[in-house]
Amino acid sequence: MVLTLDEVKKDFSQGEEVLNVLKGVDLNVSEGETIAILGKSGSGKSTLLSLLCGIDDATSGNISYRSNSLKNLNSEEITDLRAKHIGVVFQQFHLLEHLNAYENVLLPLEVNGNSDKSERVDYFLEKVGMSHRKSHFPNQLSGGEKQRIAIARALVTHPGVLLADEPSGSLDENTGGEVMDLIFDIVRDERMSLVLVTHDKDLAKRCEKIYHLENGVLSLED
Ligand code: ADP
Ligand code: MG
Repeated sequence: MVLTLDEVKKDFSQGEEVLNVLKGVDLNVSEGETIAILGKSGSGKSTLLSLLCGIDDATSGNISYRSNSLKNLNSEEITDLRAKHIGVVFQQFHLLEHLNAYENVLLPLEVNGNSDKSERVDYFLEKVGMSHRKSHFPNQLSGGEKQRIAIARALVTHPGVLLADEPSGSLDENTGGEVMDLIFDIVRDERMSLVLVTHDKDLAKRCEKIYHLENGVLSLED
């Protein structure tokens, strides 16, 4: 399995109250598999994704990538594990405004001491159709172009899994459709797994499996 979740729980304290957002999430994602996690707004999709990419810690339970558990890792080890296994794309792109497109895509390689592999930046910029925009800064790019750069950045370390949180959510329908086509094409070409978090049922249907996140647990749609 490229990704395994075992009884993952996440609580948030809100004043006196404790909010149990994830109540025991189990999931297995195999090599090259594409899955969608479908849930209403507020169901905990982004919370789950932030646990999967190590931005936040689970209250209990276990998350592993190819048998490497996220538990008890220091920030350096998390960075290393992320570089090897995880790419992330967000609804709001999250590009660094002071870096141009090329530098944004190069950044994950630099962070991991792999800047000598900069030919990969050109490869992925070409893949997302953005070679002609590499000197542009984010504020000179359209939403769709920004998301293409963000996709190249997520994939430049060649992770086993791409995590995507509503990647077309802030784009118009046509642009969003093109970005999703691109994600599905690249994931297939590069033989990566995809975990797509969305509230859009039609989009979820493009994945091999659909899980519903409801009342803090995942259930597989048959
Ligand atoms: P979704 O992405 O499915 O819309 P979220 O994961 O963003 O849902 O949020 C799930 C629930 O957890 C919401 O009720 C939200 O208010 C709550 N929540 C998310 N992050 C925090 C936080 N850092 N502190 C407290 N509550 C949070
Ligand atoms: Mg969300």
